[in-house]
Amino acid sequence: MTEAPALSEPTLTFAIERRTDPLPDEQREAVLANPGFGKTFTDHMVLATWTPGDGWHDARVTAYGPLTLEPSAAVLHYAQEIFEGMKAYRHADGSVWTFRPEQNAARFVRSARRLALPALPTEAFVESLRVLVDVDQAWVPGTEHGEASLYLRPFMFASEAFLGVRPAAKVTYSVIASPAGPYFSGGLKPVSIWVSSEYVRAAPGGTGAAKCGGNYAASLAAQVEASEHQCDQVVFLDGLEHKWVEELGGMNLFFVRRDGSIVTPELTGTILEGITRDSIVELAKELGHDVTERRISIDEWREGVASGDIAEVFACGTAAVVTPVGRLAWDGGEVVMNGGEVGAVTERIRSTLLDIQYGRTEDTHGWMHRLV
Ligand SMILES: *Cc1c(COP(=O)(O)O)cnc(C)c1O
Repeated sequence: MTEAPALSEPTLTFAIERRTDPLPDEQREAVLANPGFGKTFTDHMVLATWTPGDGWHDARVTAYGPLTLEPSAAVLHYAQEIFEGMKAYRHADGSVWTFRPEQNAARFVRSARRLALPALPTEAFVESLRVLVDVDQAWVPGTEHGEASLYLRPFMFASEAFLGVRPAAKVTYSVIASPAGPYFSGGLKPVSIWVSSEYVRAAPGGTGAAKCGGNYAASLAAQVEASEHQCDQVVFLDGLEHKWVEELGGMNLFFVRRDGSIVTPELTGTILEGITRDSIVELAKELGHDVTERRISIDEWREGVASGDIAEVFACGTAAVVTPVGRLAWDGGEVVMNGGEVGAVTERIRSTLLDIQYGRTEDTHGWMHRLV
């Protein structure tokens, strides 16, 4: 993956404004016992402001709560916004860690550049996670909750009040955190996928490789179409030929062939560079798989499953880790992968990654970063 850029600004210092009315212990524990995903937020959040004159300033951890925005705030009209998604994992000894944060920081800088937002230096990004998780450490689920975590959502948006099409001269950075249960509480369950023939997610020169809210806004109509066809998720094809498999709305894809080799769509500028994807390419090679990054057409997927050449398909991303794909449906047909069951290779890659993230195995790659 791309190296983090050289730092141009000193690290920000985050003031700590602890709230005097955090959620009582019993209520927090009740949330942690059954958190779901993205529904409840911790007691605090990070805020920082950028202006051209002062750069990043006024950085702090403060009480979680509503933001005050003018109705003319540029983000509400022109969607100048980016985000990241990561997790804090509690290890058996009580320590709290995150996974490859410098990669998220570097991607945040690349997304910022594409959306004409200011870069947040890597050290400031990682420090913002550390201070928030430190203040809200009681919200990181313990190992008694299984493979639960504290989901971290850094984001940045144009908060300047103006209606004009130019990069905003006032930008807000924030981090919020939300406890997340094991993604598949009833056991790993394969998802079904709809091939969108009407909508595309990204086009050459567009924002497909940037993690921006606008990409998600544009994917919702396709998601509705998928639901109408009893599918859980959408797979997007390339915008030029409508032929090459790119990714799901928020997850990258892997194909496991009968001979054990693995293929994942190559990064062409229209696919989001998933950190889970990058990690799995490396782990799968170490597990002895031949891994190729190349273009794969939707016909190769359909025919490969029909002929038995493609044995397993899985999707991956921070939130759901590794998710088996059980069924692929399109206007006119469907194929079922691996009998709709979780495949052995998918399962092995998933547990290899989770063992690293939860500290159950040695982190030989130096991927884990201690927060608390
Ligand atoms: C975030 C995201 C992913 C997964 O990236 P990870 O770094 O693995 O979490 C994949 N596709 C899209 C469109 C995304 O926004």
